[in-house]
Amino acid sequence: MAQERFAWATLDDKRQIEAIPAEQRWPGGTVYQMLAGTAARHPSRPAVSFQLKGGPADPAETLDWTALKAQVTQAANLFRSIGVGDGDAVAYVLPNATETVLALLGGMTAGVVSPVNPLLETAQIAAILRETGAKVVVTLAPFPKTDIAQKVHAAVAEAPGVETVLEVDLKRYLRPPLSWLVPLLRPKVERRHRARVLDFRAELARARADALDFAEDRDPDRIAAMFHTGGTTGHPKIARHCQRGMVYNGHVGALCLIGAEDVLICPLPLFHVLAAYPVTMTALASGAHLVLPTPAGYRGEGVMDNFWKLVERWGVSFMVMVPTAASALMQRPVNADVSSLKYALCGSAPLPVELFRRFEEATGLRILEGYGMTEATCLVSINPPDGERKIGSVGLPIPYTAAKILHCAADGTVLRDCATDEVGEICLRSPGVFPGYKDPARNAGLFAQPGDWLRTGDLGRIDADGYIWITGRAKDLIIRGGHNIDPALIEEALAGHPAVAFVGAIGQPDAHSGEVPCAYVELAAGAQVTQQDLLDFAAGRIAEKAAVPKTIEILDELPKTAVGKIFKPDLRKRATARIYTRALLDAGIRADVTVVEDPKLGLTAEIAVEGPEADEHAIEAVLGVFARPWRLRR
Ligand code: AMP
Repeated sequence: MAQERFAWATLDDKRQIEAIPAEQRWPGGTVYQMLAGTAARHPSRPAVSFQLKGGPADPAETLDWTALKAQVTQAANLFRSIGVGDGDAVAYVLPNATETVLALLGGMTAGVVSPVNPLLETAQIAAILRETGAKVVVTLAPFPKTDIAQKVHAAVAEAPGVETVLEVDLKRYLRPPLSWLVPLLRPKVERRHRARVLDFRAELARARADALDFAEDRDPDRIAAMFHTGGTTGHPKIARHCQRGMVYNGHVGALCLIGAEDVLICPLPLFHVLAAYPVTMTALASGAHLVLPTPAGYRGEGVMDNFWKLVERWGVSFMVMVPTAASALMQRPVNADVSSLKYALCGSAPLPVELFRRFEEATGLRILEGYGMTEATCLVSINPPDGERKIGSVGLPIPYTAAKILHCAADGTVLRDCATDEVGEICLRSPGVFPGYKDPARNAGLFAQPGDWLRTGDLGRIDADGYIWITGRAKDLIIRGGHNIDPALIEEALAGHPAVAFVGAIGQPDAHSGEVPCAYVELAAGAQVTQQDLLDFAAGRIAEKAAVPKTIEILDELPKTAVGKIFKPDLRKRATARIYTRALLDAGIRADVTVVEDPKLGLTAEIAVEGPEADEHAIEAVLGVFARPWRLRR
């Protein structure tokens, strides 16, 4: 069983854990069984707290484990009663709230839960509802200051398979006089679809709470969730998750990281794997208290400004963050008693070393940088809490996960294994590795053969102590603070301009967000256009604001491979040199910056400073905020 915390410090400790077969370390089974076990052990301890507003004294709702189990049971029974069978999808298009947790856990118990990013546009939501075959959609009732309900009802009109829409009214989280205003300010929503619309809470109240009305399918291979990747492309991929992988995330989290006495704050969205699995499943497996501050989490009104006070309010011991959030939090003073904090789990994008140090110094906690992805049902590796943390690495593979660095052909055939410290593609085997995307056409070459190793598309190396270092991404996503942007979206938009012949979009280094989108353009012969024209054009064509390029550069010719593909590594070098040169110049340092591909470090800036002597500390003060490494050129 996973109840004792395992002092996991080295690769050898991890191997000792793995020497015990997984089935003996934890009972397997389903997420619902995990929840029921915790509710039996800790019936009246707090399970989930949610506050609609971000202030430290704002009203909050807390469910204990008994209440959470009862309401999840009701949600699962409700979904069954409206036609959701084992293989049927229940989508939710919701910001964070207690009901989002109920939809997640109830949905995966009754059928296949499909969380959808509520910031997506109508057409994208509709495409996901169609591809997953969603029968039921849980979403917000029309509410002031959000257009989620409008978008979802319009999307349902384009997804004829949806039979029922269940609405969550956030009004119940407000007190008078604010709650009186809601009916006056509710936006009007057009319903041009035939799905019936019901009130989620009213239906829930009618469902049985003490036991499931149906026999749960406990097969660990049962597909219980479908998560979409990316989020900013017109065609996100739908990843399928088995019960085994979800339970695995929870039990490993409880084994290695979190116990029943912990309080876990999660200001990250529940439509992404990080919040859904390593966080929520770990709370479920361990009995820890999960705190969700506001529907929009870190983006919620007042959350950043009040964050440390929220930590004090709830006695938070473990926080979850992404690098952008860490950077924004460091813009504010630590103005509360945060002595309860022990660890911060940070993942989803590279965390600059300078920020890592500053954050630990200001808060007194320890950052555990980890690595995960949708295709592995999230958690892959983490710096061990009880052992050496290597800053800049993503730590050791979690127990029962094996990582290898391979070179593969496009079809997945392994060409060779890489040596220690040699960069190649990070490949994985674990109980969390998913069985593939819903659309079989997306699965070609996804697993390295022989051995069925998941190809992550991430480039990296494994050092002599077994730590994983990510050096780049084969798959080219632009990660703006943990928010994945597919470069194709930008490329397609700009290619629509008559003066543009070729476009390559990449992420350029950014002190705040890690990366921001940047596009390089080659003009059609004889065409003339200004950078500003192209920036305006892109802003008008790209619906997702985060994906609009920050910079567009026009080149005589874009670098291309032998088969005519735009060669992005050269664009990244250019952009990095430009950003680093500018940052140094702004600090009064004139330097010649060239960017090279270092076999161990990946893209690395080489700095030659003009003048008598280079002051390394002054350069570090400027460049330490960026994720990519640098060194002096002598
Ligand atoms: P997602 O499926 O949205 O979770 O995105 C997964 C991708 O995010 C991975 O394949 C990596 O490219 C990237 N990623 C996750 N964690 C880290 C990290 N700690 N450092 C760098 N990149 C990361």
